[in-house]
Amino acid sequence: MVTTIAPASHTTSAPAVPSLTEEERAAILDAVRDFAQHELEPHALEWDATSYFPRETLHRAGDLGLGGIYVREDVGGTGLSRSDAAAIFEELAQGDPAIAAYISIHNMVAWMIDTYGDETQRRTWLPALTAMTGFGSYCLTEPGAGSDAAAIATSAIRSGDEYVLTGVKQFISGGGEAAVYIVMARTDADAGARGITAFLVPADTAGLSFGALEHKMGWNAQPTRQVILDEVRVPASSVLGELGQGFKIAMSALDGGRINIAACSLGGAQWALDRTTAYVHERFTFGEPLAEKQAVVFALADMATELRAARALVRDAAGALDAKAPDAPMQCAMAKRFATDAGFAVANQALQMHGGYGYLHDYGIEKVVRDLRVHQILEGTNEIMRVIIGRQLLGA
Ligand SMILES: Cc1cc2nc3c(=O)[nH]c(=O)nc-3n(C[C@H](O)[C@H](O)[C@H](O)COP(=O)(O)OP(=O)(O)OC[C@H]3O[C@@H](n4cnc5c(N)ncnc54)[C@H](O)[C@@H]3O)c2cc1C
Repeated sequence: MVTTIAPASHTTSAPAVPSLTEEERAAILDAVRDFAQHELEPHALEWDATSYFPRETLHRAGDLGLGGIYVREDVGGTGLSRSDAAAIFEELAQGDPAIAAYISIHNMVAWMIDTYGDETQRRTWLPALTAMTGFGSYCLTEPGAGSDAAAIATSAIRSGDEYVLTGVKQFISGGGEAAVYIVMARTDADAGARGITAFLVPADTAGLSFGALEHKMGWNAQPTRQVILDEVRVPASSVLGELGQGFKIAMSALDGGRINIAACSLGGAQWALDRTTAYVHERFTFGEPLAEKQAVVFALADMATELRAARALVRDAAGALDAKAPDAPMQCAMAKRFATDAGFAVANQALQMHGGYGYLHDYGIEKVVRDLRVHQILEGTNEIMRVIIGRQLLGA
């Protein structure tokens, strides 16, 4: 049995992009597929129906090496590339898009600490995060600042050797469950985006509390809550990166996050498409299987084509991020916009082709439609993806 996805030959602790052999890459994806098929897919409907957050399963994902996929190995990370991560998230999402997407957000947090944290911060948080014995949350959005994230109002005021954080973070994935919250807060009221700093806030800090569990259309297996900071005092050593660098850190994390969410859309939609290609052979109408009808075949052909195009865009963007290409943020935005729109459309079409059965919970298709819908909204809405792409195109 495969116990970890870490490739045997990969022993360096350098944050370089490793070059895996084809055999290593195939072995990793086999292990992830096995995990998705046996540990996620059989439970996904029940977790969705009961809003159950499967901590134990996530611990096993950590054992497999999925808690810090592109985190350095000296703190338990797996040290893989963004391209490998995209392929991994696509496999995971075939088991359960909601859990795959939570693992993706957790990985984003782990990467932020690995990349911008000092040695003390890395060694304090990353062994637990990479093992997924502790979870991470990313706290940017506020009730008054979503798409316009630089408008956040949560304040961080210096008081001796501490900062005092006050404000409300909205829609926080893993809220109430995470061990550490990366909170973007304003250290300079007059400096716009450059007045924002990132802080590491442990879950047990006095003054930190959580709103009620949000009741959502999908993503029910992972909790979403407000994170409320009421004069939360953290030592000055909790600053992640430099003072005033928080917005830049938050945006750089989202580049990779968008690839992962896009990959989760691909995985969920591929699962729905595979169910549909099987179903059209089984379902007879007017004396013949649906598969005999050209309209059905054409629809399936379009679904497969859209997904293939989206996958190519996601892989290109992941490669651009690995290569630190100057236009990587634009490519990530393109991939996120296209793949999450295509993923939702394909899943929704799969539901349509199942007729009334597609609308039933037991078939699983309607869950995928609900789960993928939010991918068009979060980590920057798809309208904001167009803003990012447009700015780069026009040199603004
Ligand atoms: C389930 C879930 C989980 C989430 N998890 C997290 C998390 O873990 N951490 C976190 O920080 N945030 C999280 N979010 C927040 C998410 O990133 C925001 O909801 C998203 O960025 C949009 O912000 P908003 O909801 O305030 O919408 P708004 O910004 O109010 O936008 C409303 C509409 O206006 C459009 N719009 C806004 N500005 C423009 C413009 N300039 N041009 C054209 N159209 C525009 C938007 O595209 C959207 O359609 C989560 C959200 C959800 C639903």
